Amino acid sequence: MFEMYVTEIYCSSKNCNVRESQVRTKDFGDNREPKQWHCPACGSKAKVHWRRTAREHEVEELKVAVVRVNLALLLRESGADAVPMSYLMLDELPASWQCVHPPIDQTERPIA
Ligand SMILES: [Zn+2]
Repeated sequence: MFEMYVTEIYCSSKNCNVRESQVRTKDFGDNREPKQWHCPACGSKAKVHWRRTAREHEVEELKVAVVRVNLALLLRESGADAVPMSYLMLDELPASWQCVHPPIDQTERPIA
């Protein structure tokens, strides 16, 4: 068994168009993780911005998605050209955008 990770790397080469890349890896707990990451486009050494478990990444991505939706709704509905800082801290969608379906029972057997 292994744990899934997501690592964001950064290429600082002035000759490369790539800046950030996200790489999904399996961690078998036996130090197979690269000691040095390289840009997938140019092969230059890349810096690690962050590394998260897949579950941590999923939680962070959901937070980012909620903020983006709230900002888009604010801009669309108010016509504002500036966004209050408080909108960057919202962690829920407006009630009209929240899921009306009951939560999925994770213990239920999936349909094949
Ligand atoms: Zn590069």
